[in-house]
Amino acid sequence: MGQTHGEAVALRSVSRRYGSGESAVTALDAVSLAFPRGTFTAVMGPSGSGKSTLLQCAAGLDRPTSGSVTVGGTDLTGLSERRLTLLRRERVGFVFQAFNLLPSLTAEQNVALPLRLAGRRVPRARVREVLDRVGLGERARHRPGELSGGQQQRVALARALITRPEVLFGDEPTGALDTRTGGEVLALLRAVVDREGRTVVMVTHDPVAASHADRVVFLTDGRVHGELAGADAAAIAARMTRLETHPC
Ligand code: ADP
Repeated sequence: MGQTHGEAVALRSVSRRYGSGESAVTALDAVSLAFPRGTFTAVMGPSGSGKSTLLQCAAGLDRPTSGSVTVGGTDLTGLSERRLTLLRRERVGFVFQAFNLLPSLTAEQNVALPLRLAGRRVPRARVREVLDRVGLGERARHRPGELSGGQQQRVALARALITRPEVLFGDEPTGALDTRTGGEVLALLRAVVDREGRTVVMVTHDPVAASHADRVVFLTDGRVHGELAGADAAAIAARMTRLETHPC
């Protein structure tokens, strides 16, 4: 829709080092990246290239050693743990490879959870609307164990969208799904960007999944190593192969 402008998330010269001395590891090395509102970005790179660390820092789950992260214009650097928790709860959505639903709650109770945790009213119509949007309006009373993997991930997506987050982060969200159900989840991610102007940032190792994004950012050794815009799966796979065989 593009009715909002600017950056949903921006990283400015973000470094993250683990440990110290000889055993120190630089997981992110002065990464600067912006994720404009209303766009879908995939992040790819060999194992150990810093993808998870990037996602964690961008989402306020981890703090950079240096540099700054802004979410919707709010600089996370100086925020207390409490403020950071509130920001994550209200302005950031997550979907993971393992769907992380609470097994004892129904689909609609799982979707309502972020609002309950925030002490907010839970408008039933809103919960139904979000479940309808992911095609699960008829399954609102089902528990995760009564749903397929693809359906569970769609519940997780509805749960991530209920707060109308500034940005939705996905960590291999289709990693546990077969091609067809994974494709359904990717089409839904595409739709929340195209129809609602939301921002999606997804880590994936799958070139087909990445081809649903507007652009693919490649990481190697904690640094941005180029990007591709509007590329198909074959072009993305070719670039990944080059990165893995000739990283420099
Ligand atoms: P990716 O997601 O691309 O596989 P990660 O972000 O998990 O990469 O890791 C980047 C680098 O940082 C790797 O060398 C990894 O071993 C290291 N690393 C990640 N988390 C930690 C941690 N908690 N302690 C020490 N090293 C870590």
